[in-house]
Amino acid sequence: MGVTRLEIDLKALKHNYSYLRAKVADNIKMMAVVKAFGYGSDACEIALFLEKLGVDYFAVAYADEGEILRKAGVKTPILVLHPQPDNFNIIIEHCLEPSLYSARVFKEFSAFAKAQQQKNYPVHLKFNTGLNRLGFWENDTDWILERLKETTTIKVASIFSHLVASEDPKEREFTQHQIASFTKIAATFLTSLDYTPFLHQSNTSAIINYPEAQFDMVRAGIGLYGYGNSPEEDAHLQPVASLISVISQIHAIEPGESVGYNRAYKATHYEKTATIPIGHADGISRAYGQGKGYVTINGQKAPIVGNVCMDMLMVNITDIDCKEGDDVVVFGKGASAVDLSATIHSISYELLTAVSQRVKRVVLR
Ligand SMILES: *Cc1c(COP(=O)(O)O)cnc(C)c1O
Repeated sequence: MGVTRLEIDLKALKHNYSYLRAKVADNIKMMAVVKAFGYGSDACEIALFLEKLGVDYFAVAYADEGEILRKAGVKTPILVLHPQPDNFNIIIEHCLEPSLYSARVFKEFSAFAKAQQQKNYPVHLKFNTGLNRLGFWENDTDWILERLKETTTIKVASIFSHLVASEDPKEREFTQHQIASFTKIAATFLTSLDYTPFLHQSNTSAIINYPEAQFDMVRAGIGLYGYGNSPEEDAHLQPVASLISVISQIHAIEPGESVGYNRAYKATHYEKTATIPIGHADGISRAYGQGKGYVTINGQKAPIVGNVCMDMLMVNITDIDCKEGDDVVVFGKGASAVDLSATIHSISYELLTAVSQRVKRVVLR
């Protein structure tokens, strides 16, 4: 298929799911994080497939993302990590479960749900244990407990927190401190409430590095998509998404000639370049230009020459045996997104989620 496309390999997804599932005790739930279009792939395809495999929960960042899953037929509970009062109508209409992360959001959601005559609407309490991004603080606990005693509108389905550096062995002490403070916060709720919310704190790297912190559920994102934040873990996982493009045209360039906008590249020898129909509008940042990034053609790296254009980029293929119409791999099978993103000091998460909606998604079943 000679066009730019993102191939989504459901067999790889099944492999990664089984690999992570095997790291978690049988009685512990698994939440699949499918925010940002399923880490840039296709959230609905991913969610419907994982639902069949028996995943227990989904997480999205925003309410609209949950609505899209519901409209695709996803029935499993969906946690919305970062709701805003403006989206509360979407949340209730589609039976999504909000994370309540501040007194403002707690009060406004309770009032909204009450006006809609809701009873025991499932909500999740998010605590800040060191990320300092979103969440209640430990000393908000009494305030929350008082409010919970007065209401039958909402019911706490779970209590959770998020780790700062679970992939970083140098931050082990800090992570253990986060786990301890979450344990303490959770204990207060478990002794004060007459029902038992479930607890969760682990993302992919914590599943691997902190088995003692699995609590009642784990939240797997990047690992499901095939990346484990370390070369050892990457070796066990398989990339789900492969960004593939094609050689549109090959040029013979003479010494002194320039390639691309602003004459940013000047040939010093006789060189061959290939023009590829993928650019910064597709998610390949201009930062990859000027020889930093590359594509992989027949197993060999072809560096990007000059500036990345909106719809195209040019690569040096002087020493590569290839022809017009050949496939090129940007990242995925045979070309790790970790390595490519590292050329601009970025991470797999950013490269995966940058693939724009213009790129056709092709699901391999
Ligand atoms: C994105 C996210 C995750 C998933 O993290 P990975 O490192 O991709 O596994 C888990 N929890 C929260 C709160 C998140 O925002």
